[in-house]
Amino acid sequence: MTKFKTLSLSVVLACLPFVVSAADIEKINTDVVVVGSGGTGLSAAASAHQHGAKVLLIEKQAFVGGSSALAGGAIAAGNTNPQKRAGTQNVSDDGFVNIWIKDQDRSFPGADESMPDEARMHKIINEFDKTVNWMEKDIGHKFAVPRPFGYGGPNYAHAPAESPIPASGRGSSPAGGRFVVKAFTTYLDNAGVPIMTGTKAEELITDSKGNVVGVKAMKGKQPIEIRAKAVILGTGGFARNKELLEKFVPSYAPYTDVSNATPGATGDGIIMAQKVGAAGFKDGWVMGISPVSTKRELNNTFRTKNVYKDDVFVNQDGKRFVKEDLPYIVDPIANQKAAWAILDSKDTNKAALLAKYNDPEIVVSGKNWEELAKAMGVPAAQLKATMDQYNQACKDKKDPVFDKNPEFLVPFEQAPFYAVRVIPSTMGTIGGVRTNDKFQVLRADGSVIKPEFGRIYQIKKLSVL
Ligand SMILES: Cc1cc2nc3c(=O)[nH]c(=O)nc-3n(C[C@H](O)[C@H](O)[C@H](O)COP(=O)(O)OP(=O)(O)OC[C@H]3O[C@@H](n4cnc5c(N)ncnc54)[C@H](O)[C@@H]3O)c2cc1C
Repeated sequence: MTKFKTLSLSVVLACLPFVVSAADIEKINTDVVVVGSGGTGLSAAASAHQHGAKVLLIEKQAFVGGSSALAGGAIAAGNTNPQKRAGTQNVSDDGFVNIWIKDQDRSFPGADESMPDEARMHKIINEFDKTVNWMEKDIGHKFAVPRPFGYGGPNYAHAPAESPIPASGRGSSPAGGRFVVKAFTTYLDNAGVPIMTGTKAEELITDSKGNVVGVKAMKGKQPIEIRAKAVILGTGGFARNKELLEKFVPSYAPYTDVSNATPGATGDGIIMAQKVGAAGFKDGWVMGISPVSTKRELNNTFRTKNVYKDDVFVNQDGKRFVKEDLPYIVDPIANQKAAWAILDSKDTNKAALLAKYNDPEIVVSGKNWEELAKAMGVPAAQLKATMDQYNQACKDKKDPVFDKNPEFLVPFEQAPFYAVRVIPSTMGTIGGVRTNDKFQVLRADGSVIKPEFGRIYQIKKLSVL
């Protein structure tokens, strides 16, 4: 009986509304409050401090760095001091615009013609060299000798000294971004700029004219109100927010939980800004990385020295749907109901690993194409036709379907055959609220929401992390 009374009392208490009196709210006054501790927030905080402002940085997770700490950490820039010292090939602002546009075309075939915004690109690119030089001289970040990014080009990728881009030119080492984050946090610690982790911004405070004058946040269970002359939103993207993905890029919504972006990437800044009148972009994009297995340990079974170029991918109809030697190929995979990488047993080590599984969500096998198709749940005649045609294309050194480079036409003939289910891995999103050239957030009528705030790439702008 006593036990029941205690239980019912706690249930009643749990149901009571949680009322916060004004006296319970911790009040803080500062010049600049920065929300989010990725590359954007950290660099904004450092720059604001350098310009004499009293700064407070808040971060909702228990640790700093966001997606920036998980990224490769190489920054694209031309005409920098590290390049000059190395006497290495430079790249002009126009060269960058061309690279950017080419990348955009490649990454988002069929994207809105007005994207990317060339004027904005020039504005940002103009800051690239200044950013790298500033990070080196003032922040104390150490750069490796600049090299090309994975897909070639001039020596414009500035990786951290601790994780240089390998001589093979294949990207920077994983998570080099953590060294960028470390450089900024060390700088901010030494400068006495407080970083309040475990503190989630929940709402922007506005005055009677609609100007933003601060942030309401929760520091654990403690409500706080931060009044500031400027609010900087460095809250990252929305790769971990299913609702926003469904709205902007629905084909990626099923992969919200498996994104490589930080769990903090839930679009909070975008939501908060729109609640106080910020204009949003109509479109949003996902930055994809590569096709991956639902079981991490199987990724290398369909990855070769040519990455995915030697592969053949088929969909729920048993048909090829993508030119496999294109880079990334993530969007085409996201657009299928199901996508599979087809393998055979010519590599006995890989086959032995694949044979350990028999699950249509992971990998299935068959002694011939018909049996494999049955296990995949795709039309058997179609899969057999697809693979017969592909194997013939390998012999002819001519791909009649996608005109894939003959160098990557490798036949699949050694039974048993395998199909590994693949999904798109993602690193973040593009899109959010509209800003002007100074990265001030705009209303739909083009007016600036004062004081200046926005998802800025900082006063010094980090171009690529
Ligand atoms: C594996 C990987 C590889 C990548 N590779 C590349 C690449 O090659 N090229 C490229 O250009 N980009 C790449 N990116 C993407 C790039 O890293 C990000 O776009 C960039 O780092 C985003 O920086 P940010 O500061 O805007 O956001 P983040 O670094 O994500 O920081 C945002 C921070 O804000 C915090 N936050 C969110 N909401 C709140 C709130 N309400 N209150 C307080 N804090 C909040 C988050 O917890 C997070 O810590 C990669 C990303 C990943 C994960």
